[in-house]
Amino acid sequence: MRVEIVAIGTELLLGQIVDTNSTVASQKLAEAGIDCLYQTRVGDNLQRIVSVLNLALERNDAVIVSGGLGPTQDDITREAIAEVMGAPLQLNPQIEDKIRAMFASRGRTMTANNVKQAMVPAGARIIEQKKGTAPGLVCPVGAKVIYAVPGVPYEMLDMLDRAVIPDLISRAGVSGVIRSRSLRTWGLSESALSELVAPRLEALDAGDGSTTIAFLASGIEGIKLRITAKGKSSEIVDALLEAEEKELKSMLGDIVFGVDETTIEMSVAREVVRLGLTLSVAESLTGGLISSRLVSVPGASGWYKGCVVSYASEIKHKVLGVSDGPVVSESAAIELALGVRKLLGSDLGLGITGVAGPESQEGNSIGTVFVGTSSAMFGDRAIQLSLPGDRDRVRQYATISALDWLRRLLSGRIPSTGLD
Ligand code: ATP
Ligand code: MG
Repeated sequence: MRVEIVAIGTELLLGQIVDTNSTVASQKLAEAGIDCLYQTRVGDNLQRIVSVLNLALERNDAVIVSGGLGPTQDDITREAIAEVMGAPLQLNPQIEDKIRAMFASRGRTMTANNVKQAMVPAGARIIEQKKGTAPGLVCPVGAKVIYAVPGVPYEMLDMLDRAVIPDLISRAGVSGVIRSRSLRTWGLSESALSELVAPRLEALDAGDGSTTIAFLASGIEGIKLRITAKGKSSEIVDALLEAEEKELKSMLGDIVFGVDETTIEMSVAREVVRLGLTLSVAESLTGGLISSRLVSVPGASGWYKGCVVSYASEIKHKVLGVSDGPVVSESAAIELALGVRKLLGSDLGLGITGVAGPESQEGNSIGTVFVGTSSAMFGDRAIQLSLPGDRDRVRQYATISALDWLRRLLSGRIPSTGLD
């Protein structure tokens, strides 16, 4: 069973909205073990929609179409499908009554153009609408089928779950499962990562193809290694994922900070809580970005004290007790950490200072960043980073790098001698 997803709407082609529908539909197909080989986007033009649908039917067994089922002029999916089926559009009085009743229940009168949503190509079956007005359609074309669902994301999702995916599964007679898991990493480039896991990629290539690995660069969320496994049952697939996760973690070591939805701030939180510590932060160039990420973790009030945005040098000196002299240095980062730790009364202090640009500062080039920590458990430590990019990127990269360094320190990954 091969399926093509077709998203309809000129606004997709103009870049006004992002085609999340196709992504969601692809995820649903993958979970059900149904192959999706193409995704297509086309504007609100009858002839072009017709030709896209014909091509999709030629190279697949089924097509899922989203969008263009509404009442307005540019909603012409029904007409296009009718043309592809070679069938007339017929008024379905039950649907018309339902739409009329829906308007009445909201104290409004149904306008004439809404009748359009009650038009159904002869031979098509209806997918009942439970969230909006336009029903979905199951349209047989010879031995193949076109499913039409509304463009509104939650209406589409509801119909996929309730009607389209179950229908595809029963047509395909498939019982396979595809699942993915992502390992999130920070600290190595994509090319360095792929070199590190090259032996594993080769081994999988030579295997039966049930497990595959892909790299996904995700900016300030790190680089993800996505493991995808296929098998006959969830148990088999989960076991494959589990085994591969272990294998990769043993090759990658401490650069893996989390799995799937685990962010860097969550992994810091996990370590802070594990050690029973409290944390506070002094931020210069990041201006609160670190703090913002930390408080996004539910339950942060249990271990996070707060932050001082010590942006001006005088605040570093007066409020946090940083010694007179340069404020972009390892010792300044440590003094920031120590100062905020004392001021806010936490076990652990994190300090960050550096040059975000556009100008260099104190002879330090743009992207030079110092991160310091202070605690009884780990002593006073600092690290120097050289980050790439413009002001915004330096600030964002400084944020995740500082959090990552803290995570590694807390999990005992950083040797306890001297400065790094
Ligand atoms: P309606 O009955 O609301 O007119 P429709 O089936 O005609 O629904 P469209 O008019 O194409 O669907 O789209 C309705 C709205 O749904 C769009 O304005 C957009 O917000 C959202 N939408 C449409 N297509 C997509 C898509 N591929 N991905 C994400 N959102 C979409
Ligand atoms: Mg519409």
